[in-house]
Amino acid sequence: MTAQLLSGKPIAEAIKAEVAAEVASLGYRPGLAVVRVGEDPASAVYVGSKVKTTEELGMHSEHIHLPADASHDGVLSIVKELNARDDIDGILVQLPLPEQVRDREILEEIDPAKDVDGFHPMNVGRLSQGYDALVPCTPAGVIQILKRSGLEIAGRHAVVVGRSNIVGKPMAMLLLQENATVTICHSRTRDLPAITQQADILIAAIGRPGFIRGEHIGDGATVVDVGINNVSDQDFASELFSEGELPKRIAAIEKRGFTLVGDVNPKEAVERAAYFTPVPGGVGLLTVAMLMRNTLEAAKARRGR
Ligand code: NDP
Repeated sequence: MTAQLLSGKPIAEAIKAEVAAEVASLGYRPGLAVVRVGEDPASAVYVGSKVKTTEELGMHSEHIHLPADASHDGVLSIVKELNARDDIDGILVQLPLPEQVRDREILEEIDPAKDVDGFHPMNVGRLSQGYDALVPCTPAGVIQILKRSGLEIAGRHAVVVGRSNIVGKPMAMLLLQENATVTICHSRTRDLPAITQQADILIAAIGRPGFIRGEHIGDGATVVDVGINNVSDQDFASELFSEGELPKRIAAIEKRGFTLVGDVNPKEAVERAAYFTPVPGGVGLLTVAMLMRNTLEAAKARRGR
């Protein structure tokens, strides 16, 4: 079997086009504020893409960049100011934050109505109770890929590997809401392959490059790879990529020092799975699209339409 690749690009583009069309009909501009602290290079790239996309879709965007030594209270007071502003509908504090800034307290200060990352306990609680909530963008994007690719979720056995608050747990809750039968695995799970092999839908959100191998995947499964890892070792890359793909990856390692790899071994996954989301080009593209949708939804809920 050779898996069909599920590209995130057309789905992300469709969601963004829907958001842009709705924004154009609103009569006001939803506003998204992104707070970044310090100089983490990956955060700079993510925030840049969020700001650019917000503007492209006709929304108002603000980027507040604080130095790496910003105090906890300084970040907290920025969040409070943004909470109080009527023109700001969405607030996103880019993680990770420097050590002196206590991220849980910052995230809990964000007005739940403006919590477009869906990390506030109020939204987490509402999601787990099955009520309308702002839900975390990456797992929400996974649901969109599955649904818009015409893949049935209800009644299927979904196995989520990873239980972080950002991906694994909300992913499991969203799949449950879609009526999947859900199993959550983590680092203390015994005999992981025996469980993951049973999955109709296998979601990998682990943070270890190529960790999910052929032995973890049941024939004909749908495998969704949430992982984003940098791999710089060429020998390791040759274990992950087919002959067709490998030269491109080696060239990337030689040019910029690394290639992007998910949590699934793609060479082995395509031999077992029926559907597979590639890295890059799969789930990752959906995250910003879902952030845009959350900003629009937050604006409509706050402003009554
Ligand atoms: P975390 O490190 O917070 O969580 C990793 C999870 O994987 C933990 O629950 C951990 O278990 C589990 N795990 C680790 N090792 C094993 C193992 N050997 N067997 C089974 N489970 C294991 O990572 P995140 O959830 O934040 O991110 C996961 C991946 O998704 C990363 O690659 C990240 O880069 C990517 N990501 C992609 C995004 C996007 O596409 N836009 C957004 C966010 C993340 P335990 O809890 O027991 O420690």
